[in-house]
Amino acid sequence: METLSSYVEGKWVEGADAGAELVNPATEEPLARASSTGVDLERALAFARERGGPALRALTFAERGALLERMSKVIFAERERLIELAIANGGNTRGDAKFDIDGATGTLMAYAELGRRLGEQRVMVDGAPFDIAGSRLQGWHVRAPRLGVAVHIGAFNFPAWGWAEKAAVALLAGMPVFTKPATSTALLAWHTLKLVIDAGLLPEGALGCLSGAAGDLLEHLGEQDVVAFTGGSATARKILSGESRISRGVHVNIEADSLNVALLLPSAGEAAFDAFIRDVHRDMTQKAGQKCTAIRRVLVPEADLARVRERLGAELARSVVGNPALEQVRIGPVATAAQRRDVLAGIARLREQTRVAWEAPDGLSPLGAPSGKGFFVAPLLLEAEDALAATHVHEHEVFGPVATLLPYDGTAEQAARIVRAGRGGLVASIYGDDRALLAAALESLGPWHGRLVLVDSKIAEKSVAPGTVLPNLLHGGPGRAGGGEELGGERGMALYQQRTAIQGNGPLIGRLLGVS
Ligand code: NAP
Repeated sequence: METLSSYVEGKWVEGADAGAELVNPATEEPLARASSTGVDLERALAFARERGGPALRALTFAERGALLERMSKVIFAERERLIELAIANGGNTRGDAKFDIDGATGTLMAYAELGRRLGEQRVMVDGAPFDIAGSRLQGWHVRAPRLGVAVHIGAFNFPAWGWAEKAAVALLAGMPVFTKPATSTALLAWHTLKLVIDAGLLPEGALGCLSGAAGDLLEHLGEQDVVAFTGGSATARKILSGESRISRGVHVNIEADSLNVALLLPSAGEAAFDAFIRDVHRDMTQKAGQKCTAIRRVLVPEADLARVRERLGAELARSVVGNPALEQVRIGPVATAAQRRDVLAGIARLREQTRVAWEAPDGLSPLGAPSGKGFFVAPLLLEAEDALAATHVHEHEVFGPVATLLPYDGTAEQAARIVRAGRGGLVASIYGDDRALLAAALESLGPWHGRLVLVDSKIAEKSVAPGTVLPNLLHGGPGRAGGGEELGGERGMALYQQRTAIQGNGPLIGRLLGVS
């Protein structure tokens, strides 16, 4: 059994006790242990600030980008071995594992490319300078890296992409990173981090990691530090109400729960309709529905309900549940026994106000799993009779292979009322060809989401599924989703930078900043 250590003050250290056990969620076989007990987190963070920060700030964007490219390549070179780890500890099918690992390497590469484009500077000029009096006395805005450490806390569902997407942005901005992956699926996170750290690519202190519980990590943060958190809203609330956040103004970004929507418009062309079925089915099955961006609420015009039920049912019936090590399995287990308990409790809650639109006729019999073992959940499509009256569907995120059909009258107004009941989300996808309805949906759903995916019949075949987070587009969302903004190319870097207005002799300011 492996012991996952933490990388602090330039060395790997093991926790002082046995810590938590990581298992294979398909077989319940123990795989590793992780403990953070006894790790001096105050010193770990100070080391990152004092050693990693200055070293990164001395580099240009192009140089930082080159580091990201090397990180990506080091991980990619071990892709096959990492896929096996994701299957073992994450309950991932091969496809699920690639989605996570290739997401990590792809995002690092995308930010490497951005670094190349930003070039030989070390700070960013934000917008054009403007003349205050004549052309000499000017006002500028610049964005320079904060002088602290970026603490990253990840959710269990994307152990590779989860740390890499945050690290890519912070490192390119010029901040050192101390990352804490979720414990239950940390095997993949740890191996990817170890590959990068042991390759010695980064300046000392630029990247550290914690295996095991967060402990007092957040108590040692100050004014120049940043926390980027991904996880459940209950944990987010604790982080936001923490002492360091309140009394020292630590910068916090939250990526939390979301009851994402797929909205089918009336009279959608065949290609848009097919894409709608494809995306809902993918989100119910990929990673066993454990994606923050997964579609949970499926809005369907009343006239289309029967064929949606039928088409989705047929797709789900073909989706084999079982041990993800087997090639024919499409839906692996959820990550832990606790997750399974939560999902089943959530399903019971949703069922109080909905009926079953599709469920497996023979119940759950996971393929290739030892009898009675594994944290499997059968896929389930529910349906509400009255979309707005089914309040639990709009309040409770069931983090498993479950979605609910919500009928509506085909108007943009009613669709918007139903969507708003979710109180803000990461992504809504809209399928159809009626331009007036698409325009109305854009206007009414945009303010409630970090991202909208429009799928009309002309681009339906090529459209990227709403569950895929692209490095150059914003990830995050208002309200329930936490109010955060990550990625989005340069936009995500703002979290790690202080924006400062500078007034003075314009040509001199340009020369001091090294930009003219
Ligand atoms: P979680 O229980 O909130 O845990 C998230 C992370 O927080 C883990 O690393 C956890 O560590 C850590 N943590 C727990 N208590 C903490 C505390 N008091 N202080 C600091 N850190 C603490 O969430 P999860 O179960 O891993 O993830 C599932 C949730 O994440 C879902 O609700 C999903 O929607 C959301 N999610 C959102 C996004 C997004 O981008 N918006 C992406 C993925 C997932 P341990 O593992 O050691 O407990």
